[in-house]
Amino acid sequence: MMRNEVIYIIFICLGLAMATAALKVFLINISDAYIKRNREDLFNTGDALAIKCRDIGCKLTEQIQIYNNYINSLGLKQTISCSNSVVSNASNNAIKFIIKYSDITYDMFSLERLDFCSTFMRNRDSLCNDMDELYEHVKSKLPFYVRLFATKQEVPYTICGVDYKLALVENPIFCFSYVSPAGKSKHNYEINISAEIMNNLLKNVSSKISKQGYATIQRNSMTNDLREAIKKRDNYTCCICGNSVFKEPNLLLEVDHIIPISKGGTTTASNLQTLCWRCNREKGNSIIGQDH
Ligand SMILES: [Zn+2]
Repeated sequence: MMRNEVIYIIFICLGLAMATAALKVFLINISDAYIKRNREDLFNTGDALAIKCRDIGCKLTEQIQIYNNYINSLGLKQTISCSNSVVSNASNNAIKFIIKYSDITYDMFSLERLDFCSTFMRNRDSLCNDMDELYEHVKSKLPFYVRLFATKQEVPYTICGVDYKLALVENPIFCFSYVSPAGKSKHNYEINISAEIMNNLLKNVSSKISKQGYATIQRNSMTNDLREAIKKRDNYTCCICGNSVFKEPNLLLEVDHIIPISKGGTTTASNLQTLCWRCNREKGNSIIGQDH
């Protein structure tokens, strides 16, 4: 007798639970249907913000495939097997180590891809914020049951006709992983490549390229005519030791950048001096980054 009663109670509870779950699914469905049916009105309520969300959303939807391809081609979503010291060093200088171990190169090819991804991520982040804000705007226009049961995060996306998938695009994870030979010890350092880190990667590659471009221009500015003019100006005399072709007819004279190109020096008369080859070598050894 007692046992039967317990079984009845269990059945009743199960039945109630199932009915509640079914009711909830039903309410979610009619809430979502309400949003879809009233999309246009709600869109107009959102006004400028809704238009902004729709436009950015459309653009991102068009770009997402390219973004994924670029992330893969730059090798930003991978796990690198490396030594324990690389794992520790990477945690102190993430940007440098990502560039070194990914497929990023210091050229326009990588620069353009990083720039694209950085912009995409920044737009995606601002879209997510704008969508949250848009929900706050339209919330008061929704019937009570819709506010309660509609899938809140998706509402503004539905209103703007933007795929909610965009909000679910995850940052690429770049992982440095060390596993000891016996497999007993493991050490991982995971870098979540946020929009900010992507922007730092971009800045790093960009500054290195512009430096290289600068150095090339400065080196190309050094012509034979300029070299000859500087030697003549300095009266074919070394500006450090005072030795000259008049004292030593076969003396090799060179034209030196007073401030090296690598330190921002330019190839202009005021930054150039005549040195004998001995003094130039000595100067080269004493200043790091010296050029000739
Ligand atoms: Zn000299």
